Order: sequence, then structure tokens, then C-alpha cells
Amino acid sequence: MQIEQIILSLQPNQNSYMQVFNNFSAIKQVLISINEEGGKTGFVPTMGALHEGHLSLITKACLENDFVIVSIFINPTQFNNLEDFDAYPRIVGQDLEMLEKFDDRVLIFIPQVEDIYPNGIVSQHFDFGGIENQMEGKFRPGHFDGVGTVLTTFFSLLKPDNAYFGEKDFQQLQIVKKLVAIQNFEVNIIGCPILREPTGLAMSSRNKRLNDSQLQESKLIFKVLKQVKKDFGTKSAKEIMQDVQKAFKNNTELNLEYFEIADESTLKPLQIVEKNKKYRAFIAVFAGEVRLIDNIALN
Ligand code: AMP
Repeated sequence: MQIEQIILSLQPNQNSYMQVFNNFSAIKQVLISINEEGGKTGFVPTMGALHEGHLSLITKACLENDFVIVSIFINPTQFNNLEDFDAYPRIVGQDLEMLEKFDDRVLIFIPQVEDIYPNGIVSQHFDFGGIENQMEGKFRPGHFDGVGTVLTTFFSLLKPDNAYFGEKDFQQLQIVKKLVAIQNFEVNIIGCPILREPTGLAMSSRNKRLNDSQLQESKLIFKVLKQVKKDFGTKSAKEIMQDVQKAFKNNTELNLEYFEIADESTLKPLQIVEKNKKYRAFIAVFAGEVRLIDNIALN
């Protein structure tokens, strides 16, 4: 079923309080009225396949704003891998059901590709001062150009007062703060804590693609991160790195792509621990074709 058909079939009865907009000109009128009345807007960009992690951002945004725009848009330019883009879960009907628990101050924006890319699906290139070249940037070439491009459009169109991003994608959060500084957007960027499954696995839309055995084994990711946090300060970065590699070495379901301890602001790999600096451990793991990322604050 087409997205619009799903929305139409849901709107009249079940979702009577929800306002769903599927192009920019429709939401623009509402934003103008909110602005005229001095209302504050929060923005939560998502790629759909919503879970409690997304809902936690929306809840926080509802507490801190008069209206909240939740976008659902699978941004093609931030995928460096076409198969990953094709396999990304698309379940708008279920997403709308999950959003029913919010009141009519939540505006759902499901833009058309042409709203976001009127001149064709291409990325702008950004210089984020080097943080774009670490970790995710290194392993997913062009990824942060795609993120910068889509958010430049969203921020320019929607002009939110506050925008909410999860620390689950910590490097992305730092990139967004940089983007706002470079482009002089008048929006506060608010980081939100990582929500986890009872097993410790960070919630992610991609978890929907894991089979039972992968799901079972993926507990190891957070277990390893917790151990790293314990060892930080007593073991060297090199020893910790070796322990992490060992933990994944014989696992038949998980393949370690990278593990890094990095400075939170520069995202450069740890050389020597300096006082007054904050460090985080970052990890990317493949479970079959599914790529999972996570991180933990170390001090
Ligand atoms: P996505 O739909 O994956 O692009 O995510 C949309 C937003 O939700 C991003 O700011 C993510 O960092 C955030 N997010 C995703 N997973 C989680 C989680 N487990 N806990 C908190 N925020 C999350």
C-alpha cells in the first residue's frame, strides 16, 4: 500500500487527534499560525520504524514545547549502501499507531522526496572540522554529508526552536551541533539518553531485522561496553581494545567492525587520558547484514 493510502485509511477513525502532513505546503500553514501565536516548536526527525527510543525523544519534546513536529523520512543520501537503504524497515501504518498515544500538539510530517530534494537526490558537501572523518564517517563514506543535507532542508523549512537527537548516534549529535554553528540556524540541539531493551541492546529500527539467534547474541555489545567502562582508568586503551577484539573473535553471529575510545568533542581516538576531558567508547558490529552501533560514556 502507498504511504498516502495508509494514512488516509487510518486518519478518519483511529487517528482523529493526529495531524498528518505529507507535503511541506500543508504543514507550512500550521507552522505560520503557531508562529503568529508565539508558540514554541520542537522537532524530532526520524526514519520511521519507531520504537520506545524515538518515543522518549518525542515525549521530552512535548514537555518542552507547545507543538512537536515528528518527521518520518528515510533519507536516501545518508545511506552509503543501497542494500541497507532497500532493507530499511518501512512500516508507516504501525508508526502512526504508535504515535496515537500523543495528543494533537504532535504534528506528523511525512514529506515527499521532492519536498526535501527538489533538485534531485544529491548531497551537499560539508566541512565539520574533522569529526566527520572519524568512525561512522570513515566506515560510511558520505553518510554525514547526507545527514547534513537533509537537516539543512528540514531546519530551513520548519524553523524549529528545539530539535531532539539521541545519544545512540552520538557522532551524529556532535555533527548536528556543528552544522547548526556553521549554518547559523537558530535552533537548540538537545541530546537525549539511549534507550535499551531489557537485554541491554540499544533500541534501533534495525533490530527488527535480527533473527532470534542474532538477537540473543547481540546482548554482548552492551556487556562489552559496560566492561570497558569498568576497565577505563585501570587498563590502557590498547589492552581494552585487545579485550574487545577477543570478546567478539569467536562469536559466530557478530562481527566487530570498529571499536574506539574517543574524546567526546573531537571524536579523535584516545592517546593519553587528559584531566577535564570526557571520553566515550564507540562500537559498530555486524549481525549478518544488519549493522548495529552503540556507545557509552566513560567518565
Ligand atoms: P532514526 O530513526 O534511527 O534516524 O533515529 C531518529 C532519532 O532517534 C535519532 O536522533 C536517534 O539518535 C534517536 N534514537 C534512535 N535510537 C535510539 C535509542 N535507542 N535511544 C534514544 N534515541 C534513539
